[in-house]
Amino acid sequence: MGPAQQPTYDDRAAVDATVARLRRMPPLVFAGECDELKAKLADVSRGEAFLLQGGDCAETIEGATAENTRNKLRVLLQMAVVLTYAASVPVVKLGRLAGQYAKPRSSDLETRDGVTLPAYRGDAVNGFEFTAESRRHDPQRLLEVYHASASTLNLVRAFTTGGYADLRQVHTWNTDFVLGSEVGRKYEQVAAEIDRALNFMKAIGADPDEFHRVDFHSSHEALILEYEHAMTRTDSRTQLPYDVSSHFVWIGERTRQLDGAHVEMLSHIQNPIGVKLGPTTSADDAIALAGRLNPTNEPGRLTFITRMGAGKIRDHLPPLLAKVHAAGVEAAWVCDPMHGNTFEASSGYKTRRFDDVIEEVQGFFDVHRSVGTWPGGLHVELTGDDVTECVGGGEELLEVDLGNRYESVCDPRLNRVQSLELSFLVAEMLRKA
Ligand code: PEP
Ligand code: MN
Repeated sequence: MGPAQQPTYDDRAAVDATVARLRRMPPLVFAGECDELKAKLADVSRGEAFLLQGGDCAETIEGATAENTRNKLRVLLQMAVVLTYAASVPVVKLGRLAGQYAKPRSSDLETRDGVTLPAYRGDAVNGFEFTAESRRHDPQRLLEVYHASASTLNLVRAFTTGGYADLRQVHTWNTDFVLGSEVGRKYEQVAAEIDRALNFMKAIGADPDEFHRVDFHSSHEALILEYEHAMTRTDSRTQLPYDVSSHFVWIGERTRQLDGAHVEMLSHIQNPIGVKLGPTTSADDAIALAGRLNPTNEPGRLTFITRMGAGKIRDHLPPLLAKVHAAGVEAAWVCDPMHGNTFEASSGYKTRRFDDVIEEVQGFFDVHRSVGTWPGGLHVELTGDDVTECVGGGEELLEVDLGNRYESVCDPRLNRVQSLELSFLVAEMLRKA
């Protein structure tokens, strides 16, 4: 059997030509930036920083607009300010963007009204539209994804260094949310405390330039081997290979086989990397993965992203965490409260309950506290827009509302308000911890 979750291309020559073209394209990120992120993630694994990683389940080429990117970035920065205040440590901001174009699927095929076609595997592979032509696996798409990633990243770099992301501006957006909505009103106290903290910093003469720019990095699931290989380059400083398609790449629950091609690929690059761990992961699996992927136990190199499900985390995480920790494995531990909590609503929409998301995060904090390890961060699927994909939250979105604005081409995302609420609720959990 070949590597898991790969496209099946019918024109090898076209694939080779695309790969050759990709190999000549400039890097999207620099190796030195990957090292900077690795150093920040080392702080996370030491308990001195908190990671916020978020963005779409699947980006689309059509959706790579300025508005979309700005809204996503804005909500992530708003969340980060709240979390920084509550955790009293730096928050490492990592977008699930500028490259998140390939999806692992549990089924190769999809059937609608008696018609069966290849499943949608993300814009990097085929189109979402349900026609034979659109669902064909087209290698040319890898180049389109490269260009879309480049333009998103360009915008992110401009937004985060050009003053748009100024801390005072971000705080003003949070104040607007808190004072301007019924849902936000519940969080007035925290927002007022942040306000006082900012005024205090201003009063003691903190350098306003310090507020002006933020560090922000990109990440995506390293799924398509052709693409990631083509984007792996030798760093001129160190002569070591880096995957320059993104600062951070992770492998998913379906591609983390110890002897699989994805683990092999990640073992050869120097980037900081992540591995998703679902409820069937044993401690020995995780220890073996750490041995393969981080044999020198370098802090910041490896992040374990647990995605257990709200009903399972309190049973499954403690033995895993305790044994891996006792084995001396150096890793940042991050909670993905999304992927273990997906279900199909009676209307057919894939959805998640906001309460389950919160419950899994609470379980994550409680388990880490009882084991004595640091709950290092959150990995969430979200958007800055007012979509209707997850149910619940302060706006009490119901299953019947899902059709109003369901835009995800893959998994359901928290909308803008649900994302902000999540950050305020997590802030309360952190303050109680
Ligand atoms: C994802 O992050 O979109 C995903 C598919 O996750 P997992 O591998 O954890 O199922
Ligand atoms: Mn997803």
